[in-house]
Amino acid sequence: MFCLALKYTYFCPRCGKPTQYNKERNGLCIDCFVELEKAELENEDFKFDVTICIGCGRIKHGNLWLELNKEVLKTRLYSLIHGTKLKFYDFEVELPTNIDLSSAYQYDKLDIIANVSVRDQKIIRKQITLRINKAFCPLCSKKQSGKYYESVIHIRFQRESRSKLTEVLSEFINTTTTRLEKLETIDVKKEGEGIVIRLSSRKLAKELLSALNRKFSLAILRKYRTPVTVNINNRQQLINIDVFIIRLFQA
Ligand SMILES: [Zn+2]
Ligand SMILES: [Zn+2]
Repeated sequence: MFCLALKYTYFCPRCGKPTQYNKERNGLCIDCFVELEKAELENEDFKFDVTICIGCGRIKHGNLWLELNKEVLKTRLYSLIHGTKLKFYDFEVELPTNIDLSSAYQYDKLDIIANVSVRDQKIIRKQITLRINKAFCPLCSKKQSGKYYESVIHIRFQRESRSKLTEVLSEFINTTTTRLEKLETIDVKKEGEGIVIRLSSRKLAKELLSALNRKFSLAILRKYRTPVTVNINNRQQLINIDVFIIRLFQA
C-alpha cells in the first residue's frame, strides 16, 4: 500500500514561474500582472461618487451615514478603491492637508492623491476625483418634513405680549438659520390661546428659552421628558422629547 499525495503546482503562463492561480489576475503571476497592467494603470483616472448630506454634512458609507472626518473619508475611499484594480497593489491615500471637510457638501468634486506602490517600490501617484452627490440623509429628510423634533415648547402669554413675542421669535429664527452649520427646523404653530414651537435640536430649544428669558419674565409651569418612537430610514428609533410648558410675563 502506498499513499498518493496529490501535488499540484501552477505555473504562470507568461513567464513559467510557479505561482498561485488567481482568477482576477487572469492566471498571471503578480510580477507579470503588474508589468502588463502598469501602463494601463498609469493612464487610468480614478473617479468615484460619494454622497454627502447637505443638511448635516454626513457621508454615506454602505447603509450608514457617518460624521465626515479624515478617517471616515479614508475608510470610504479604501472601500471604493477596493472595487477597482488598484486593489492588487499596495496603496496609500493621502488627503490634502488643507481639506475642509465641514463644507465638503458645497463642492462638486474633491481631488485626492493616492500613492500606489508595488512591492515597496513606489511607482505612481494617482489622482482620485471624488464627485460629490448631494442628498439629504434620512435624519435630515425627517427634519425637513417637520416630523423630527427633540423639544417642544408650549408658550402661554398675555394678549399684550403677542407682538413682542412675534418679534423675539422671528429675530431668533433669523439669526439662528444664518449661523447654523447643520439643518435644523423650528416649527411655530398657534394652538388655542398659545403658541407651540417644535425644534429639531435640544440645544436650540435651550437657546430659545434663554432668548425669551432675556425679553420676558419667564415661568416654567411644567417640564418633562417623553419617549417617542420615530421611523428613520426604516428603523425605529427611540427619542426622548423634552417638553416645556412656559408662561411669559412682560418684564
Ligand atoms: Zn509571470
Ligand atoms: Zn443629514
